Amino acid sequence: MDDCIFCKIVKGEIPCSKVYEDNHVIAFLDIAPASKGHTLIVPKEHYEIIPNVPNALLEKTIDVVKKIGCALLKENDGFNVMQNNRKAAEQLVPHVHFHVIPRNNGDGLDVAKWKSSKYAEGEMEEMLAKLKDNMR
Ligand SMILES: [Zn+2]
Repeated sequence: MDDCIFCKIVKGEIPCSKVYEDNHVIAFLDIAPASKGHTLIVPKEHYEIIPNVPNALLEKTIDVVKKIGCALLKENDGFNVMQNNRKAAEQLVPHVHFHVIPRNNGDGLDVAKWKSSKYAEGEMEEMLAKLKDNMR
């Protein structure tokens, strides 16, 4: 993908603050962090969303998510892992990536807060059936 910002970072055409790199995966600091240490973990090969990524590569990517999370836990109380697929889910760069966001007690970040909703009568069973059907 010629116009993909993450592909350009992978090729070294755009500089980044590289935290980790191997043959398949790169991790670098987000330039607009939710908190200090916010890291992006990106498979080097271009895929738009999770369903496109071969399982072996996804596993390698998650290994790096774990590595970064472990490192961040040495300096922080916790971390969030976020991964967005498509614009509807607020994916800004259409190249699969994971956010690892350091958290500390009382930091007040809104990262993982959503307003809970409720199922109407019978709606949960309907959703369950539909989802299970779509997994076939
Ligand atoms: Zn890309």
